[in-house]
Amino acid sequence: MSRDLAQRVASRFIEASAPIEVKEVEGRIEVSGPYDKMQNLVPYLRGKLEYRGRDHTWWVPKAKMTPLKIKNLQKKVNEINGVSGPEPKKVEESAEAKEARIEEAKKLFHRAISMRVPGLSFGFIPVNAVQLTGVLTDLRVSINKAGGDYGPEFSKFYPHLIKPVEFEKLLDEVEDQGRLVAKAIADLSSIIPRKFPNLKIDVGTNNGSYLFVVSGKTYDFKDEIKKLVPVTFNGQGSFWYAPIQKVKEGQVKELIGYLEGEERARAEKWKAEKAPPAEERKRTNQRGEHCHDCGGWVEPGEGYLFNWYDSEPGDFVWKVKHKDPEDCAKVRAEKKIRNEAARTKGEARKNLMLMCMRSEYYVDGTGHRPSGEEIYIDKNSLGYGGGTWVVVEPGGNYFWYVKNNGADGDDWSRNNVSTGGAGAIGYRLPMTDEARVLIDVAKDG
Ligand SMILES: [Zn+2]
Repeated sequence: MSRDLAQRVASRFIEASAPIEVKEVEGRIEVSGPYDKMQNLVPYLRGKLEYRGRDHTWWVPKAKMTPLKIKNLQKKVNEINGVSGPEPKKVEESAEAKEARIEEAKKLFHRAISMRVPGLSFGFIPVNAVQLTGVLTDLRVSINKAGGDYGPEFSKFYPHLIKPVEFEKLLDEVEDQGRLVAKAIADLSSIIPRKFPNLKIDVGTNNGSYLFVVSGKTYDFKDEIKKLVPVTFNGQGSFWYAPIQKVKEGQVKELIGYLEGEERARAEKWKAEKAPPAEERKRTNQRGEHCHDCGGWVEPGEGYLFNWYDSEPGDFVWKVKHKDPEDCAKVRAEKKIRNEAARTKGEARKNLMLMCMRSEYYVDGTGHRPSGEEIYIDKNSLGYGGGTWVVVEPGGNYFWYVKNNGADGDDWSRNNVSTGGAGAIGYRLPMTDEARVLIDVAKDG
């Protein structure tokens, strides 16, 4: 055996656990170590250092190396020394300990399942595992720490893999997130949903999680939307979204302000370019329609046509309103009476009676026979001397409120109106808006 061969064989069998060494020798950087480890380093050294076969050492003049290069070389060597070092010993878990850990995991799974958190939910999946669903990107680190199998929308947890302490921390975090979502929904509820001519701001849900969504024709506004609210684009759905807890009320208000400004600007532009001339807007309606201002009915010829920007199709449409604003005021007054005094037939009858049966409206004398349009208020017991009706005099300025008073046991002395029977008590009073509405709601049938 030559001396070289002996040395080579010797170095090959140097104890494999010995580290590769980087040394400085007489102005040279030298690298040497056990054969197997060096095999991993050679591709890195080749081209940078030279090989000296006699003692299996790679070397380079130190002058050719910068401090950074030396540092990188040492780093590489440290890596290989670490990689091929002895395996850390595994600590064997006892069977009892393992069983206890899995039992604890299952208990935590039950807590997870029973949690009610907006936007995030746990559900059982086969076998004995649970899945967390929602926007999970913020929980990524905690999910991994807890031993979960992370996915941005679904993360899975298996009882034998989770770390109970970390999993419990994750559950607390999920609850915190839920609180943030609930707060965000409360904060935003008064300002969304909001519709614009071509787009919409709303809360959407996806797999149970709450999203702030800007949808519709967003293309023209995309830069501004992104700038104002931290949203990302959903290419397939063509909408912008963010987990609702990421969106601040102030940001949404600013976005709404911006879009409203755009809407006005576009409407103005449309008017300037396409809206019909003013005289065309004074045309009267040919068909009956509800008034755009008051909601009341406008007979043909009683209203003006006008152009109105409708955000639903995002275009101008023809609408009708009363020619005389007094008509609108009247309709509004009637609506108010309906809401306050005539919500139900019973209420209207009671209020009509209270309005009419007053001494100042009682008509003196006997044998009156009011004529005009008869409207029955209460036909019950009409044949037995009871019942109530109204007679509207021609011209509609006065009406009679007539209460039949001909039943056995009634006091007939105040009867001033003739009927086919024993007579009735009549009151005559001016027709007002309120009376008209009460009669309309109170009438029988
Ligand atoms: Zn009107």
